[in-house]
Amino acid sequence: MPQTPGEIRWPARGPGIVGRAVIDLHVHSNASDGTDPPASIPELAVVAGCAAVALTDHDTLAGLPAARARAEEVGIELIGGCEVSCAFSGASTHVLVYFVDHEEGAFHDELAGLRDDRVRRNRLLAERLAELGIPVSYDEAVALASSEESLGRPHFAALLVDKGVAESIPDAFDRWLAHGRPAFVPKARVLPRQIDEAARQSGGVCVLAHPFSLELPARELDQAVGQLAELGFVGLEANYASYPPGERRQLADLAARHDLVATGGSDYHGTVKAGLSSGRGRGDLEVPDDVLERLAARRP
Ligand code: AMP
Ligand code: ZN
Ligand code: FE
Ligand code: FE
Repeated sequence: MPQTPGEIRWPARGPGIVGRAVIDLHVHSNASDGTDPPASIPELAVVAGCAAVALTDHDTLAGLPAARARAEEVGIELIGGCEVSCAFSGASTHVLVYFVDHEEGAFHDELAGLRDDRVRRNRLLAERLAELGIPVSYDEAVALASSEESLGRPHFAALLVDKGVAESIPDAFDRWLAHGRPAFVPKARVLPRQIDEAARQSGGVCVLAHPFSLELPARELDQAVGQLAELGFVGLEANYASYPPGERRQLADLAARHDLVATGGSDYHGTVKAGLSSGRGRGDLEVPDDVLERLAARRP
């Protein structure tokens, strides 16, 4: 019978990789659009055999205190982080920021502005759905999230499935919510330079998340990564759980060319992203723990 976190005596030993500790540097909780509460994140990572896990919710550090408290109880290192959408080259640029669990300061202020904009965007999104004749209200969507500020498109997607206007969450994005689809409303996005400066002022570092989301041809991606490295970015997410081995190697080479740390993570979101587990991704994720040491060595 599979173990659930509630049945495990802490500290537990997960399967891990024999003789080698692994980590997960990209995980979401229901402080943004994941489905697990922040305190469950360290538990799941321990079960997966991780020595450290970064909580990287979208635009918010709100889950960190609860996650940190539980991490201490279950004996795992918790890295304070978050994921921010930036205005940059190509289709979509997400930035992972690490070592920023402060309750005030430049980075905190930057996130507060983004959260206000998220509320604005979500209200417009609900209005857009109503105009399209889809009976989904803003309040209904908020009820599904843990707060107004944690509401994201995956919650709207789940409601669209419930209402029978989409077959699955990916289908809800394809039909309604993705960029260019009828209910798409853009969010404000900061510049990579802004987010890197704010992160540094708060003692943090920036890493380019899932670099193929930029949807750039190899040469242009190389140039874009070079620009980010010049701005002060310290890493790129090469071992991204949803990328096949060849793409991960390609990104590790790209990181090496620009003297960036090749990081990695699952992008676990709980039940809204099927088939992914924290720490193990789709079963083949192995991010070695020395990645964290190399990242920490680049702190300002
Ligand atoms: P938001 O920040 O509210 O715009 O929502 C972003 C979230 O939507 C991210 O966590 C993505 O994982 C998810 N997402 C974006 N595009 C898609 C897609 N095409 N299919 C499924 N999930 C998506
Ligand atoms: Zn998300
Ligand atoms: Fe992302
Ligand atoms: Fe993510």
